[in-house]
Amino acid sequence: MSERVFNFSSGPAVLPVSVLERIRDEILCLPGVGASILEISHRSSSFEAIMASAQSNLRQLLSIPNNYRILFLQGGSRLQFSMIPMNLLRGSGATADYILTGTWGIKAFEEAVKEGPVNVAWDGKSNYKSVPQPSELKISANSAYVYYTSNETIQGVQFATPPAIGRAPLVCDASSDFLCRPLNIADYGLIYACAQKNAGPAGVTIVIIREDLLARGNNDLPGYLRFANHDEENSLYNTPPTFGIYVVDLVAQWLLREMGGLSGILKHNQKKSQLLYDVIDQYPSFYHGHAEPSSRSLMNVTFRLPNDELQTAFLSGAKKHRLHELKGHRSVGGIRASIYNAMPLDGVLALRDFMNEFADQHAGS
Ligand SMILES: *Cc1c(COP(=O)(O)O)cnc(C)c1O
Repeated sequence: MSERVFNFSSGPAVLPVSVLERIRDEILCLPGVGASILEISHRSSSFEAIMASAQSNLRQLLSIPNNYRILFLQGGSRLQFSMIPMNLLRGSGATADYILTGTWGIKAFEEAVKEGPVNVAWDGKSNYKSVPQPSELKISANSAYVYYTSNETIQGVQFATPPAIGRAPLVCDASSDFLCRPLNIADYGLIYACAQKNAGPAGVTIVIIREDLLARGNNDLPGYLRFANHDEENSLYNTPPTFGIYVVDLVAQWLLREMGGLSGILKHNQKKSQLLYDVIDQYPSFYHGHAEPSSRSLMNVTFRLPNDELQTAFLSGAKKHRLHELKGHRSVGGIRASIYNAMPLDGVLALRDFMNEFADQHAGS
């Protein structure tokens, strides 16, 4: 296969073609450097410039205030499930509050309980299809932080706005919706995302942390696992994922220069997701959307067909239209269309047309 397909993978996922082209053009020789990004020292001035560019472009995109630090770490979001309670909860005498809206929040909770007392502030356990109402949250009086997952990648359930939680620092796993819309960073104590959903390749995780929280990590933590160590070395505590940081910078440049920043990409994402939810709403007895309409994700559109045979036929029919990776996560089943920032409108239009055609053919049969 030599032609690109429409890739609806949940992650690692689609990247902008212009970013891939730039990587191709620069892979043998970074302009002005004479070597590949894959070959240069993380302590070289050339890489320093890439690091500075990635930080400043992210700062500009998200209007990150000066009292927040940007860290580029490894270990994926999974390591953050542990690093966050290790640094912000362990030994604090306080309780961490977790809002559970799907699979990733539950996994984060399971790691946090190893580090200290954890309270479930809300649990969407009847199928994880919505986010809580503010009045439903039970936050501890002495809360170390309140943790939530802004977009549950597997269920396709997304918070439209951050939960209102009072004074405790808000901690957000934004792995699958980072950079999909404008954010007010000052709402958060810490927000993080592995890059491979919406911001770059696998191997780098972006952590944005409020300065005062760095001091909470004890000196007796393993060195790599203490946020302050990474901050003190400007993410060069050890060899960072240099290629990943370079690509995150290119993605940030693409958003700034080609997509109208985060407000521009939000319009694009609203338009794309609406096209698919409209089909689901048009055939309610054929396509069963998983998320409740008020909690629908801009990034992962999840739905089921009436039976397994139709689901299999849907997936193979889609593939004939060059629509790939639409199978839902094994734990939930059904169909999942991941339509991250870099999924072009044409891909979503092709999927919408296929869904209409498939429903017209099979609904009522
Ligand atoms: C993919 C994902 C993770 C896990 O990321 P890894 O980098 O594989 O550890 C965690 N949270 C969310 C919301 C995700 O989408």
